[in-house]
Amino acid sequence: MLDRLAAKEKRRRPSDDDLVLRAKDLSHRYLDGRAHPDSVRWVDNQNHRWGSCTPDQGTIRLSTRLRGMPSWVVDYVLIHELAHLIVPSHGPRFWALVERYPKAERARGFLEGFSLAAHVDQQ
Ligand SMILES: [Zn+2]
Repeated sequence: MLDRLAAKEKRRRPSDDDLVLRAKDLSHRYLDGRAHPDSVRWVDNQNHRWGSCTPDQGTIRLSTRLRGMPSWVVDYVLIHELAHLIVPSHGPRFWALVERYPKAERARGFLEGFSLAAHVDQQ
């Protein structure tokens, strides 16, 4: 019985479900609903990137290093990956979409500072 409950709990993976809803909400608020994420999940094997996506499949992956960061920072990474579902490359059209998120600049600064501090710690 407990095993079955545990298996059910695992299948639901509520945190990933939450991420999909959050990504869809951000797409509606900032990208005119043009980005259609099918799945968004946490992964712990991305040490050099905060997020990644596969535009063909509408899948987005977020590094678990983002867990515990302010929600507006996580939202920025989601917006970045959502914008890639619309424009795969890092051209002007891509950045124009990302900049619709009011805290884009601030979130980039936060992540850069975080990376720098983590790097300094390792020395
Ligand atoms: Zn990118």
